[in-house]
Amino acid sequence: MKKGLLLSTFVKVRWLQKWSSRQQLEAYQEKAVSKQLSYMKKHSPYYSQCKEEPLPLMDKEKMMRHFDELNTVGVKKEQAFEIALQGERTRDFQEDYQGISVGLSSGTSGNRGIFLTSETEQAIWAGTILARMLPKEKLLNHRLAFFLRADNQLYQTIQSKAIQLAYFDMYQSFEEHLARLNHYQPTILIAPPSVLLRLAQAIKEKHLAIYPTRIISVAEILETRDEEYLKECFSLSVIHQIYQCTEGFLGCTCEHGTLHLNEDIVKFEKEYIDEKRFYPIITDFKRTSQPMLRYRLNDILVAADQPCACGSVFESIEKIEGREDDIFIFNGLKQKEVAVYPDFIRRCLLFVSEVRDYQVIQTASNQLIIKAQGLSETTQQKIIQEFAKLAADQEFEQPMIRFQPYEQEQEKKMKRIQRIVE
Ligand SMILES: [Zn+2]
Repeated sequence: MKKGLLLSTFVKVRWLQKWSSRQQLEAYQEKAVSKQLSYMKKHSPYYSQCKEEPLPLMDKEKMMRHFDELNTVGVKKEQAFEIALQGERTRDFQEDYQGISVGLSSGTSGNRGIFLTSETEQAIWAGTILARMLPKEKLLNHRLAFFLRADNQLYQTIQSKAIQLAYFDMYQSFEEHLARLNHYQPTILIAPPSVLLRLAQAIKEKHLAIYPTRIISVAEILETRDEEYLKECFSLSVIHQIYQCTEGFLGCTCEHGTLHLNEDIVKFEKEYIDEKRFYPIITDFKRTSQPMLRYRLNDILVAADQPCACGSVFESIEKIEGREDDIFIFNGLKQKEVAVYPDFIRRCLLFVSEVRDYQVIQTASNQLIIKAQGLSETTQQKIIQEFAKLAADQEFEQPMIRFQPYEQEQEKKMKRIQRIVE
């Protein structure tokens, strides 16, 4: 592990590298991107052959198809898959390929992606993330508790005298985690919202007594209602978030709790869906083993109306609304199909204040399943009415709604709004 690089990155990101205007930042980005492009022209067989200007868009499917020619370290797709799957089976993620570690993206839509990181990239990643996420008032002597579904080398990079990191494998029993947490007493807790909610519940039921000064939500969408509940249970004024995926470290919250894009390591282009919503197209200018150039993600981001009070020149994001594949598609009354964004679906359940845990799944263009616990007949009727109103407003055929009990499986990502249509 390159500790020196981790430390120098930390110092640079935390104290040295500052931009006083958008203009300055964009000039910096332009230089960094052009340097990255010439590196890729030299080292990536795919890009050395590519004459298109600007570069063509990339996405996960295309990246997997051209995996062998794209990466700059000569790793073949089969080998990489083998290493990654081996890790998932044995839950031992130490194995890597010539200093390169391999991570799998959880492909909900069936196509899994493989992502490579070198030791250098890992050190830069760890240095950047620590510089951004360690509290202002207390920098050292933190105990981090980190809940994850799959580990790999990336997450083992952070370990030193000043920072302790304990890793909690989400495939193991929750009771054991509680005992370990009670003993470990983390000062910073990093976990997906579904785990944070279970921990909050355990605190309320007095099975858990921990007092983290900072909570960082990762890997799943943090819903506003869940966020409020977590603030209350942990007595914190801000729940922090990291927007990170196998494609990169893309954003994180500032002290004010606003999510900012990490524009010092990634350039963002926007494919607008409407005035505020967009799909990000990312160009990572730090990553060298696997190029991320004009790579289109299918996350729906919502731009903030106003700049953040923290004064950062990095773009503020109101929220991550969901994924492209979770836009509901209904039978239109006037046109064939009507697309409805996750937020409109959420709003139909907003008035049911007694329900925090719920899930809405679209299973066919005229069918919804709503999972929640203990809904009265009246509440169910109200929900059906809300959807009828939405259907009338947006001119689509009113869907049939079935109600089912709610359960969150520990091994699965929590998604409140989901579309699973064959
Ligand atoms: Zn801010």
